[in-house]
Amino acid sequence: AYDVLVVGGGPAGAAAAIYAARKGIRTGVAAERFGGQVLDTMAIENFISVNETEGPKLARALENHVREYDVDIMNLQRAAQLIPGSEGGLHEIKLENGGSLKAKTLILATGARWREMNVPGEQEYRGRGVAYCPHCDGPLFKGKRVAVIGGGNSGVEAAIDLAGIVAQVTLIEFDSQLRADAVLQKKLHSLPNVTVVTSALTSEVIGDGKKVTGLTYKDRNSSEFHELELEGIFVQIGLLPNSDWLKGTVELTSRGEIIVDARGETSLPGIFAAGDVTTVPYKQIVIAVGEGAKASLSAFDHLIRSSVE
Ligand code: FAD
Repeated sequence: AYDVLVVGGGPAGAAAAIYAARKGIRTGVAAERFGGQVLDTMAIENFISVNETEGPKLARALENHVREYDVDIMNLQRAAQLIPGSEGGLHEIKLENGGSLKAKTLILATGARWREMNVPGEQEYRGRGVAYCPHCDGPLFKGKRVAVIGGGNSGVEAAIDLAGIVAQVTLIEFDSQLRADAVLQKKLHSLPNVTVVTSALTSEVIGDGKKVTGLTYKDRNSSEFHELELEGIFVQIGLLPNSDWLKGTVELTSRGEIIVDARGETSLPGIFAAGDVTTVPYKQIVIAVGEGAKASLSAFDHLIRSSVE
């Protein structure tokens, strides 16, 4: 059995594994895809002390750093079920391939994924105008025209944020009204370079083969299609935590985020969680790394206080 078993190999999982291994305890990492969301992005300019890097390069660096230590890396392994240990017993992770792993403590770091629009052009222009993270990619569109898709809190926050950087923001909402908090809507409507379009269904991302040049949407009242010329599209229709496999075990919010306390502990003793899959606000690499380190130190603290053999 492992002292610490990390589930997930993104920035949070990598940091948790390194912090555990440095304590000289038996550490394993099981990940469906080592590197996580970082593999799906190109320019990264906000991982502090690294001025500029690319997703696949940072993912390789994370894995190389973990490999410097005595850590069992089990890549391409998807966890299917958690069976919490009772009364200080070992926790078990059942894998989709039928295998099973046991550990005294667990760190759940299975991340999240952005909900996509599922319209033509979205995949083709992902990272070439189609973006999901305003904190990450906003500055790349300085002085340009962008659309934000989604009028919930995250969409309206994104539009307010981007309005300070880009030339023009068009916020597109499917419903007949925005769903964001009133205070955010008030702020949004006070901005001179934001236009709000409601009852609109985005139907296509348009590009020139290299990058985004516009989008089309259907007016749901008139059924007419309209085209907008722009350089960027920020999709803000939800972030889905990869926690379906945990239902009925650790406590989750209604949105599926694992509830953690300030030390990264879940509702079950000895089971910790870190990164985008948790309730910790702001889903960012630098935050996931810090949370992974914190959960790992908490797991170590739990181990030295518990009597499991
Ligand atoms: P993830 O990176 O999501 O990693 C989760 C890990 O868990 C993966 O290894 C995955 O395969 C594994 N996993 C999932 N389910 C299971 C399972 N059931 N069993 C086993 N393993 C499982 N952040 C920034 O700070 N700067 C940026 O510039 C930036 N750009 C981004 C661009 C894009 C396109 C995207 C999608 C995200 C971007 N982010 C950026 C956000 C950043 O990537 C995330 O905040 C960060 O990767 C979260 O790390 P994590 O370890 O919590 O989760």
